[in-house]
Amino acid sequence: MTKIHILRERIPVANKLLEACSLCPRLCGVNRTTGETGFCRSGLRPKVASAYVHYWEEPPVSGERGSGTIFFSNCTQRCIFCQNYPISQLGVGREIEIEELAYMMLSLQAKKVHNINLVTPTHFIPQILKALELAFQEGLNLPILYNCGGYERVATMQLLEGIVDIYLPDAKYGDDAAALSYSGSACYTAINMAAIKEMYRQVGNLSLDEDGTAERGLIVRHLVLPGMVSGTEQVLKRLSDEISSGLYLSLMSQYFPAHSAKANPPLDRKLKPSEYERAVQACHRAGLDNGWIQEL
Ligand code: SF4
Repeated sequence: MTKIHILRERIPVANKLLEACSLCPRLCGVNRTTGETGFCRSGLRPKVASAYVHYWEEPPVSGERGSGTIFFSNCTQRCIFCQNYPISQLGVGREIEIEELAYMMLSLQAKKVHNINLVTPTHFIPQILKALELAFQEGLNLPILYNCGGYERVATMQLLEGIVDIYLPDAKYGDDAAALSYSGSACYTAINMAAIKEMYRQVGNLSLDEDGTAERGLIVRHLVLPGMVSGTEQVLKRLSDEISSGLYLSLMSQYFPAHSAKANPPLDRKLKPSEYERAVQACHRAGLDNGWIQEL
């Protein structure tokens, strides 16, 4: 079955979810088709903050020609340290028609990017699926990359099977109390691990084309937080034990205190080199040797 055929089956199912919204684990139950909004403050029309060519994602994602990034407004989580909080929590962006979203995808393809990179897309999945159908009909043929916070329902991820080629989820926390305190996300660790397992089931390990750019597969991101409140040791061990020690991990060190983190120690400071070194050691202990470690 082609992606267009799959989409024709999935779009009605996805649209139905908007009538009593259960796209994400918040399960708000609001009718977004009549303009009601839930936790993510998102209505019926997709809201987009920016569409641009991104050169600084992981090397196989950006490649030489960049990743065609579409950054959606609002979010299903509320991280107190979010670097993009004006977009994710204050709703900066513009509501657009689905046809314009399809046009954005085609415009990025015309710039020769390697993929279409959908950032924070979960609360707009039905609208994105419809835009993809329109864009595929007009010749979109790039890998579709799903770049998300990892707080996802398995049933919602199943709507993306055969459509998304590359998953790029966060595994933010190894501890539920921290996830609740810092992102307002209950039961994060079990929900996150189940979602990543489903993504891995769909696309498997990362595979690259002859130029070294991503064609298909899973990359998991983990941002190490000050004071190790991200539960780095636990989350890396779980990823290795429950999914695969061969998975590609992006272990990120670039934390800085954005948004309300400045008033919430230990998140009010940057990472110490000793903390990142501890995370790197945890990565080696877990046997996660594929992926990217940064400088600090
Ligand atoms: S997508 Fe938004 S409205 Fe729907 S369940 Fe999640 S937070 Fe609630």
